[in-house]
Amino acid sequence: MKKMEISLPKWFSDADIETAVSALECYGGKVHFSRLENSLVVEFPSDDQLQREEPSLRKVINDLINSNHCRLAEVLYDQSTIDVPGSQDTARMLKERGDIIEHDFGIYSYQGEFHMLKSLLDKKVHEFGLSLGAIEIDYPNFISLAKLRRTSFLEHYPQLLNFVFTPKQNHEYLSGITAALKPENQAHLHKFLEGPEHICRSSSCLHTYMNHADKVLEKNLVYSTVGKCSRQENPSDKNFERLREFSMREIIFLGESEFVESQLTRCSDFVKNLMVAGPLKGVFQTSNDLFFPDQLAALQFYQKSQRAKLELRLQIPEESKTISVASLNRHTNYFSNSYSIALPNGELAKSGCFAFGLERLTYALYCQFGLRLEQWPQSLKSFLNIGY
Ligand SMILES: [Zn+2]
Repeated sequence: MKKMEISLPKWFSDADIETAVSALECYGGKVHFSRLENSLVVEFPSDDQLQREEPSLRKVINDLINSNHCRLAEVLYDQSTIDVPGSQDTARMLKERGDIIEHDFGIYSYQGEFHMLKSLLDKKVHEFGLSLGAIEIDYPNFISLAKLRRTSFLEHYPQLLNFVFTPKQNHEYLSGITAALKPENQAHLHKFLEGPEHICRSSSCLHTYMNHADKVLEKNLVYSTVGKCSRQENPSDKNFERLREFSMREIIFLGESEFVESQLTRCSDFVKNLMVAGPLKGVFQTSNDLFFPDQLAALQFYQKSQRAKLELRLQIPEESKTISVASLNRHTNYFSNSYSIALPNGELAKSGCFAFGLERLTYALYCQFGLRLEQWPQSLKSFLNIGY
């Protein structure tokens, strides 16, 4: 195994590091962040491969450093220095207690108290959505590639997508597929499959824009939805938060600019109330998440100037790092332009969404306050309506 190391600037935030890891993973090596050295270590199976990819990897990081140089994260609420009790080996203890059952890397069942807490958090966000006038809606997990191609969404982290393949509908192939399902024949399975026409969705809000495609909005709209989303993760990173399937509650806004803006401000206040109720250790800040792959520097300047994406990042004390548990996204007219969604006056609608990763949020609370709910701060239990 051949390794290379790339030092990172001290000012790189956890979000910057996540971006860098995702970008480097595209080159096929295993990427590991060393907090001690503040560097990224990339491992390749052979020296040849390392030599071939090294210049590209260094260029990616230099581009990221240069594009970030003028745009350190803007922090809206900062509770990164408060003390929380903390916990040790939280994921392992939740598994031992039976709350989490691991099926495969990043794929879990949830039951017991973890499940209850996840439901309470979801209920809290959902009730907040209802207070904004949200319509409840269920969307499918499959999403059409053809429809997604109206946006540049697919180009955003293509390596994270999960594609849906289906058996070819022909008798000869159907008998062949039975044989190919045996583990020793699996290499031939692809011959009997067709597609993909769909992917498993990576975000809960995408169907909203498709449902309103090529239409004029009669009024401002708020939707609330919850469901499973999925994304591919790097198998070398075994941390619990690298979920390949997760529940996402989203509140989605579509309509006039002032309407979307005022709703997103209320979402921002909701985040602040949640942080204060804990109090939770973390920050609510602008994110570098790359919504589009090209024109990195221009986009990041745009995101910063418009506060296009804000993230709630909660501290995982046992690992001295933060993880993203919620985001507030201003799409301006990105989706309405892609799907031709107009206002009655002929202008393009605006959209935005407020998204919670429910398992990550639940996990972060256990990491900050321990596995015994009765010992959690009363303010947090009251906020979540936990009865003891
Ligand atoms: Zn969304």
